[in-house]
Amino acid sequence: MKCPKCGSINDKVIDTRLSKDATVIRRRRECIECGTRFTTYERQEEEKIIVKKKSGITEPFDKSKIVRGIMLASKNRPVSEKQANEIAEDIEKFLIDEGKLLVESLEIGDLVQEKLKEIDVISYIRFKSVYNQFKDLKDFEKTIKEIEKNKKDQ
Ligand SMILES: [Zn+2]
Repeated sequence: MKCPKCGSINDKVIDTRLSKDATVIRRRRECIECGTRFTTYERQEEEKIIVKKKSGITEPFDKSKIVRGIMLASKNRPVSEKQANEIAEDIEKFLIDEGKLLVESLEIGDLVQEKLKEIDVISYIRFKSVYNQFKDLKDFEKTIKEIEKNKKDQ
């Protein structure tokens, strides 16, 4: 941090405190060159994930969209809204952990599918059919064969 008096960037932190709600870090610093003491405040910035759609349009990551997509695919299936929320939260956490703040919508679709497959295969096929725009029965057959093949491999 630049010293407000002499402009030097050499300083040492002499005290660090967190605000009550833990969103602001207050640091007391001392300039090594001239000894001036000053305070800096660091605010934690919210991580924002941007989703790039197939059309090239970008939009902010929206967990509720993932939840809605899952709930639609799992109508009358044993997938709860709580599970759908957990999937959406897991994906958000994964993207932030990986530092993927710009992500293709297709990749999000893949992540949802992977998780949905573990919970309910029928919901998974339904979701995949919408997401990957299945054109005819062959696409369904192919997916079912893949699932059966994976079962055998296990
Ligand atoms: Zn100074």
